[in-house]
Amino acid sequence: MQSLDNFISGKLAKLEAASLRRTLVDTFREDGIWVTRGGRRLLSFCCNDYLNLSQHDAVKTAAIEATRKYGVGSGASRLVTGNHPLFAELEARLARLKGTEAAIVFGSGYLANTGIIPALIGKDDLILMDELNHACLWGGSRMSRAKIVTFPHADAAMARKLLAKHRASHPHAMIATDGVFSMDGDIAPLRALSDMAKEYDAWFLVDDAHGLGVVGGGRGSAFIENPPVEIPLQMGTLSKAAGGYGAYLCASRPVIDWMHNRSRTFVYSTGLPPASAAAAIAALELIETDKALTAKPVQKARAFTKSAGLPEPMTNIVPIMLGEEKRALRASEMLAEEGFLVVAIRPPTVPAGTARLRMTFTAGHPDAEIERLAHLVRSRVLGN
Ligand SMILES: *Cc1c(COP(=O)(O)O)cnc(C)c1O
Repeated sequence: MQSLDNFISGKLAKLEAASLRRTLVDTFREDGIWVTRGGRRLLSFCCNDYLNLSQHDAVKTAAIEATRKYGVGSGASRLVTGNHPLFAELEARLARLKGTEAAIVFGSGYLANTGIIPALIGKDDLILMDELNHACLWGGSRMSRAKIVTFPHADAAMARKLLAKHRASHPHAMIATDGVFSMDGDIAPLRALSDMAKEYDAWFLVDDAHGLGVVGGGRGSAFIENPPVEIPLQMGTLSKAAGGYGAYLCASRPVIDWMHNRSRTFVYSTGLPPASAAAAIAALELIETDKALTAKPVQKARAFTKSAGLPEPMTNIVPIMLGEEKRALRASEMLAEEGFLVVAIRPPTVPAGTARLRMTFTAGHPDAEIERLAHLVRSRVLGN
């Protein structure tokens, strides 16, 4: 095995030299916003738990009760014996929230996209992708073996040109995009993409992992405008604003039935633990009913950018572009000394030369701390 370790150690050394090596840091999350790391208590601006529901009493209680009643695991793939009745309740709720006929729950967002795309699209087909799409949309697309054509980020005019050029030489086509872009905090041109998908008969898939619970009154990015944008394949995760774990696809009845039959990450993977399904049901109840709560993350982000002298964000995700990896790491270390956890995001998560600080605002962040962070960013990161 020596060649294996030698080979990998050399690769790790190269990452280290380029300031790109990553390591795990033990982090204890106290209450959804305060964390303890390396003996220090820090206010976190990098969790995706946007509504702090991972620590919400009603959500925790639902998970604990489900565990007591049904145990910790679902025991098998849902097609064998793992189809707990909680899944039907969760899926009915998701379909209602997204306005579709049906829904299917997967183990995680990564499993969802790597299961959904290859079940619908094959090697002779076409997938049109935003260049900044999430890694698991890329993963699923590559597994489909379709021809992948990328368009520049959020550029609907270029997307249309590329679709017009390539569509006719493929039997089926898909357009796939993030709804809210996780590292940039902007929103895809959903209406324009939906219109061209209809015009060219392409199937439109939106990964709205960061939209659920935060934009469109909590229903996600398709619901920001009235009438909502028509999206036949609405995917998202239960691990961000919903606070737990798992993911979903909301779509027509035939598409969902097909996923039960041909989505490999559904068929050949164990169903979610009952606690995760129960937690998601409780979280969705809050997302559907508490409009003041779902409005808060974006309000907090806007208070921050106003004080920091930055442009108003479309969502609760605010990137501060710093370019060089070292500059991002230094800024992150300075903020940690001041009591804030704001991680530096580096390639390959983002394109080379676009290292940044990424801040995510949650419903529970104290206003006074947001002010203090804004002043630090303004004076010591941006140098204004
Ligand atoms: C986090 C994320 C995923 C992955 O979801 P998990 O449930 O964490 O696997 C998928 N897509 C986007 C856009 C994400 O941000």
